Amino acid sequence: MSNKAVFLDRDGVINVDHAYVYKPQDFEFIAGVFDACAEFVKQGYRLIVVTNQSGIARGYYSEAQFAQLSEWMKAQFAAHNVHIDAVYYCPHHPKKGQGEYLQDCDCRKPEPGMLRRGIEAFDLDPSQCVMVGDKHGDMVAAKRCNIGTKILVRSGQEFSDEALQDADFVCDSLAAVPKLLTF
Ligand SMILES: [Mg+2]
Ligand SMILES: [Zn+2]
Repeated sequence: MSNKAVFLDRDGVINVDHAYVYKPQDFEFIAGVFDACAEFVKQGYRLIVVTNQSGIARGYYSEAQFAQLSEWMKAQFAAHNVHIDAVYYCPHHPKKGQGEYLQDCDCRKPEPGMLRRGIEAFDLDPSQCVMVGDKHGDMVAAKRCNIGTKILVRSGQEFSDEALQDADFVCDSLAAVPKLLTF
């Protein structure tokens, strides 16, 4: 199997960021996501979702509800012949977390824990990997793992100049990413 992956932030990259989405009926796929992911797979990339889910820490939804939504999301990809290799999430928040979720963890982006986990689990070569995100934290997490290509998309949150500085490319959405990569 290949040793490269596209790491995908979820909210603002795969689905429209309606804030704390945890139900399929609120999960609106961004246009072109399935075709773009099919292209990545065709080019030998694994697909790994890395998502901060402080809604769990804040008590807005449970880990079980997040897991259910992830299964549903993966099934939608599967229906388009796209296999998602892993979904890693951070349920913590350093200030707003309740109980065990209140912590300074190493997985909440910009910390690199989720990406590291994927790199180890799939024996990836970070220099051949791609990170696609809509926030500065996505770019920083990728930078900390020496991810080869960091791409910022405009389909999510408004990003800062700092985010721009840490990105290798900026494009409208995931749909435009395959064309950016030199396949
Ligand atoms: Mg996002
Ligand atoms: Zn965490």
